[in-house]
Amino acid sequence: MHDHRKLGRELDLFDTDPLIGAGLPYWLPDGAAVRHALEEYIRTAEQRAGYRHVYSPVLGKRELYEISGHWSHYSDDMFPPMDLGGEQMVLRPSLCPHHAVIYRSRSHSYRELPLRMAELGGMYRSELSGVLGGLTRVRSIQLNDAHIFCTPDQVAEEARAALELIGAAYRALGIGAARYRLSLPGPGGKYVDDPGMWQRSTAVLTEVLDRSGVPYEAAGGEAAFYGPKIDVQVADGAGRESTLSTVQIDFHQPVRFGLHYIGADGAKHRPVMVHRSIIGSVERAVAHLIEAHGGAFPAWLAPTQLVILPVSGAELPEAEVFARRCAGLGLRAGIAGPERGSLGARVREARLVPGQVVIGAREAAEGLVALRLRDGTRLDPRPADEVLARIAALVEARSIELRA
Ligand SMILES: [Zn+2]
Repeated sequence: MHDHRKLGRELDLFDTDPLIGAGLPYWLPDGAAVRHALEEYIRTAEQRAGYRHVYSPVLGKRELYEISGHWSHYSDDMFPPMDLGGEQMVLRPSLCPHHAVIYRSRSHSYRELPLRMAELGGMYRSELSGVLGGLTRVRSIQLNDAHIFCTPDQVAEEARAALELIGAAYRALGIGAARYRLSLPGPGGKYVDDPGMWQRSTAVLTEVLDRSGVPYEAAGGEAAFYGPKIDVQVADGAGRESTLSTVQIDFHQPVRFGLHYIGADGAKHRPVMVHRSIIGSVERAVAHLIEAHGGAFPAWLAPTQLVILPVSGAELPEAEVFARRCAGLGLRAGIAGPERGSLGARVREARLVPGQVVIGAREAAEGLVALRLRDGTRLDPRPADEVLARIAALVEARSIELRA
């Protein structure tokens, strides 16, 4: 495996600047293209699974986090509050409180449940500068988050469906889980003191894991302050594990925010919140993808999906036409012309790009292109239309294969 910090800079994906600050990376155009493809995948997968997206601000009043419990259980990880006109504003350390407030802003019938609210939103953590580096420990985080408001009877099915979304995403991304972990509370005062609640939520998650058939291990001291969670762990090149995806059950915040729905009996009932993230933070997900693939991303994620190689300057017009057609289909393509060196040198330079489209004199004359794949496969010249349609279909299907 590779070091994403080194590779990320070499491939012009992201960087940092002391003037912006430690733990605050910025994304260069190629990194932004990967991130955009990933975010689009997530939004589409969530839409298909019945989620609806919202946007909420990255900060809120201190009181919001006092109600959610973050202030008393989690303030060590939060930025210090900002004084603004006699009020204290806080950069949010999670999206849950905003989503709870959004849920509360409208009345809900049991018929609307499970209500699945998703957001790819910003949040902030005051990581110590000593542990910062690359995309894995950052102070500004873009989280793939969602909260499912449901009845107690619906919790297990929602948690199961979330695990399924996580599995499908890992297949599309070409990555694997190192381990599933049932994260339980440990000693110390950082957990909500309600033994009955912990027992109920742990029983549900245990059942979901047992039924899913995946091997897992229980670990104390890893739960969220409000409830236990299933964490999907991934490993880096050195075998160090980190949590990418998570499914959590929360009976606590619905009480704190006074959430309810109107049941079939016409009375008010308390929903349960399932917190879940398919790929965790976009930063950590991209760091892992860079390391797992060594920069050779699946075609649908690659910053450049096709590099077009006119053999000589004479084929440049055909190369330009092909590039415009790629752009029209939403494919990310670039031309590497003869000024960049010999054909062999240009092929080597594009070794991480999924497809290399070679256009020589014969191809130009006959409307053909010769496709070479990243794995070294050289395909016979085919009509440009046909090659484009195949590549577009492969990308559309988010296949991890280079050819159908
Ligand atoms: Zn949450």
